[in-house]
Amino acid sequence: ENGTSIFVDGNEYQIHVKTLFFVSDLPAKSLFTKTINFNGYFACTNCITEGTLLNKQIIYPYKYNNYQSRNHEDFVTIAAGVEKSNTNAKYHSSVIGIKGLSCLLKLFRYPDDIIHDYMHLICLNHVSTLLKRFTCILTKNDIDGIDSMLSNLHLPHDAHVKYIYSIKSVNDWKAKDSRLFILNVGLPILIQHLPELYSSHFSIYCMAIKILHCPRSFEEIELADTMIHYYCKNASTIYDQKIELYSLHAHLHLPNQVLNHGAMAFTSSFCFESAIRHVKKKAHGTKHLGSQISFWYDIESIVITKKSEPPSRFLINEIKLNSSILNPYKKKLNENLNILQHDALKIQFYLRFKDKFVTYHSVLYDKRFSCNSYLVSYNDQHHQIQYGNIILFYSLENQYYSLIQQFRRTNIRISDELNIPEKFKNILDSFYPICSLNDEFIIIQAGNIRSKCISVPFKQYECISERRINYEHD
Ligand SMILES: [Zn+2]
Repeated sequence: ENGTSIFVDGNEYQIHVKTLFFVSDLPAKSLFTKTINFNGYFACTNCITEGTLLNKQIIYPYKYNNYQSRNHEDFVTIAAGVEKSNTNAKYHSSVIGIKGLSCLLKLFRYPDDIIHDYMHLICLNHVSTLLKRFTCILTKNDIDGIDSMLSNLHLPHDAHVKYIYSIKSVNDWKAKDSRLFILNVGLPILIQHLPELYSSHFSIYCMAIKILHCPRSFEEIELADTMIHYYCKNASTIYDQKIELYSLHAHLHLPNQVLNHGAMAFTSSFCFESAIRHVKKKAHGTKHLGSQISFWYDIESIVITKKSEPPSRFLINEIKLNSSILNPYKKKLNENLNILQHDALKIQFYLRFKDKFVTYHSVLYDKRFSCNSYLVSYNDQHHQIQYGNIILFYSLENQYYSLIQQFRRTNIRISDELNIPEKFKNILDSFYPICSLNDEFIIIQAGNIRSKCISVPFKQYECISERRINYEHD
C-alpha cells in the first residue's frame, strides 16, 4: 500500500504495485475463484445466464441469455455464505455457480478483473472446434487444397509458424498457428473451399477477433460487439445446438473486457506460456517449486547490474550502389530518386530496417529465404493505406527511405464471395483487400510504414491483410 523505493542513477523512485487482472484458462479460473466448472449450469464469469441440459451436456443457447451482470459485492456476500454452509457439510453445494470464498477476491474485483484468455478460449478452443466441423463438411480434395495452401505460405520471419499438420490434425497445431489462421490466413483460404454459408458466418468471427485482438478505436470495439452477437445468435442455425457451449457464450463478454483492460494481444497467456521454459529452469525436484523460483528471481534482481537500453531505429546490411543484386531495380530506383532529387552518390543503401522491436526485410534480402518480411502497408500522402513490397532501404541526411513496388487493389472484393449483412461489408473489404502487384514504384519515408502484412493467393491475385501487432509472444 505504501509502495517501495528504488534507486536508479542516484535518483529515488517511489514504486507502487497493484494487480491488473487474473488471466487463466477456464478450469484454472474455476479452481482459483471457487466457482463451478465451465460445463456447469451457472458457468459464466460475467453474467448469470443459466445453462440448459442437452444430451448430457450443458449448453448456453443464445436466445436464453440473461445479461444481468454479476458484481463484486454480491459475489463476495454469496461466496461467504456458501463457504459457511459448506463447512462441516457432507455434500458441498453451490449458489449461482459460486462454490466458496476465494482469497483472490481480496486482490481482484469480480468479474471485471477476472478475464478471459484468448489464447485458450479462441486459439486453442473455438478455432479448433470450427476446424473440426469444417473437416466434416469438406471433401478430401478441398482438405488437401487447404493444407497445401497453408504449407506454401510465405510468412514474416518472426511469425515462427509452419503449417506442418493438416487441418484434420488441428489438435497438433500450436496456439500461434491458430492465431495466425484466425487473424490473417484462414478466411481467404477457406472462402476458396468452404460452402458460402459457412465461410460467411466464419468471416464475421474473423473480423470480430481481429478487432478485439488489437482495436484501433472505440468504434471498432462497438462494431466487434455487434459482430460477436451476430455470430453467436446464428451459430446454432449454421451448425447445431451443440456448438453453443459456454466457451462460445464467453465470447459475448470479450468486447467489454477489451474496453476495461485493453487489446487481447496484451492481456493473454501467450507471454506467460512463452516464459514457462525460463521459469522451469529455476526449480529442481518436486518440492517447494514456487519458493525455489521466487528465491532465484530475488537473487537475480538483487545482483543485476546490466543496464538495458530501449531499442532504437537503424538500417543494417549495407550494399553498394554498383552491387549486381540491384540491377533489376536500377532503372526504377534512378527514376524515383530523380523525382525526389535525391543524389545517389550521397546515399547509403541497405537491405534491412530495424524499427525498435520490428525488423523489416527487403525483397533483395529475402530472396535467399522462403520468408516474406518485405510486404508492408504504408500511409500515402493522402493518408490512405497502400500495400507494397520493400525493394530496399536507404539513408540520406539521417532520414530513412524505402523503395517500394506497389500493389493495386483489384475490382474484386472479398465480400462479393460471401453473404453477409451490408453493414459489415466495407470493413471486411478493408481488412482483406484483393490486390495485384504492379510495375509501379514509389519512394516513401520509412516512418510511413504501418505494419508487416501477410498475403494469401486468391484466384490470380493476392489477398493481403495487415498484422496489427508485430511483436506478440509465441
Ligand atoms: Zn455471460
